[in-house]
Amino acid sequence: MPKKYHIHPKATPLDLEYIFKFKIVRGENCINCGKCAKVCIYEAHERQKGDPRKMADPNTVLCRNCFRCIQECPRGALEKSLERNFMDIGGSYWKPDMFITLWKQAEDGKVPVTGAGYRGPFTGTGFDSMWTDMSEIVRPTRDGIHGREYISTSVELGRKLNHLAFDANGQLLSPIHDTVDLPIPILFDIPADNLSGNVKVALIKAAAAINTYIIMPTAGITPDVEEYTPNIIPCITHKEIAQHQALLKKARIVAVEYDGELLNNFQVVKDKIKSISSALTIIRIPAVKDVEAIVAKLAHSGAEIIHVVADYRGLEVNGPPSSSPRLITDIIRAVHLRLIDERIRDEVTLIFSGGIAMAEHVPKAMLCGADLTAIDMPLLIAIGARLYEEPEKLLVLPEGLEKIPVEIVTQRIINLMGAWHSQLLEVMGAMGIREARRLRGETGRAIFFDEIDKDTFGKLFKKREAASV
Ligand code: SF4
Ligand code: SF4
Repeated sequence: MPKKYHIHPKATPLDLEYIFKFKIVRGENCINCGKCAKVCIYEAHERQKGDPRKMADPNTVLCRNCFRCIQECPRGALEKSLERNFMDIGGSYWKPDMFITLWKQAEDGKVPVTGAGYRGPFTGTGFDSMWTDMSEIVRPTRDGIHGREYISTSVELGRKLNHLAFDANGQLLSPIHDTVDLPIPILFDIPADNLSGNVKVALIKAAAAINTYIIMPTAGITPDVEEYTPNIIPCITHKEIAQHQALLKKARIVAVEYDGELLNNFQVVKDKIKSISSALTIIRIPAVKDVEAIVAKLAHSGAEIIHVVADYRGLEVNGPPSSSPRLITDIIRAVHLRLIDERIRDEVTLIFSGGIAMAEHVPKAMLCGADLTAIDMPLLIAIGARLYEEPEKLLVLPEGLEKIPVEIVTQRIINLMGAWHSQLLEVMGAMGIREARRLRGETGRAIFFDEIDKDTFGKLFKKREAASV
């Protein structure tokens, strides 16, 4: 049995002022009896480290709203109130509760549960309109999660062969392409410009700690992060290849921003990179209208890895303002199916990013047809960032973040990925899938609300409509 991939979480509270949905406050009438610490299974209450006679301030981010401590406090000293500003965070895509979930995951790396239960809604748009088929939930494949069977979350990046060709003597004629294994189907994408030095270093260190890669503009690859270059994917334009030769020589993977010119001279660009380095090449394409046609053309030209980048809400980009942009789920399915139609899907690795906000979006994106995903915003939310969608995108980093030690920021990102990895194992175990690469395009193991709604009620309402005419 291969060695199990494991991400090591560690409780890492962030000592910064950031807002929560509910604020839990301990009043002055507290007698420090410690009952709240005993009854709270989420460990939101504990005694002060320096003076164990006294209770510490409650850790609101760990609270899952079960109200048990409030009911059981003998002095009625605990109070929970709704933080009104919290509901303004996010917008139509990034719901306020997503921030609580991500903060909580970064805090302790555990799979979040809610004491108050989930009261819906049970469907929505994009990823929310998809459910996974968990019919294996009580069957032995669950053993994989708890150790008796191995569930592999690893995926492979690179060009693969559709078939093998041999000569008359049985010698292999097909060129075997280089590939890179990732133990988790998630890459980090640089989430914002002008991040403080500690945050940038922490993102890189966290990527290295969990054996994944981070895509970074070359300006951010400074001498202080040189030791982590094996986990950094420098992002360049094809015109900058010569200028960044030294960097490309050290890189295992390089990302090249797509532009129209690349479509017709991809092979020239690829050869140029290959003459400098053995790095694999990712082509990064914005998720424009009809991106599937561009992806197909690049795949036919020999592209090995293609990264389609939607906007931060998982929407198609650069369309006319009047058009209704496609959602990330539809974009992934369109690209995946186009490559299947053109019989080239298995040869190319597809990465999708933009709107990958929650742990469950990773397996859902893969079910739609992605080989893996790249994430950006959740990395910053893990360290207390808030995002506002209206009136326009605004990212607010917590005050004082630049002074937080790199180790704390790093561990919170590792915790986040630990929680996402655990949830990926849970989903795969419940679906009876033991290898993450088998999730790709398995739409038969997903339920799409729009499709079953149409199948179930479409005919019925059509008949009624026809009868009422
Ligand atoms: S149960 Fe109430 S009185 Fe006891 S330590 Fe907790 S808040 Fe204080
Ligand atoms: S409400 Fe429940 S989860 Fe929250 S602090 Fe009290 S006991 Fe813990």
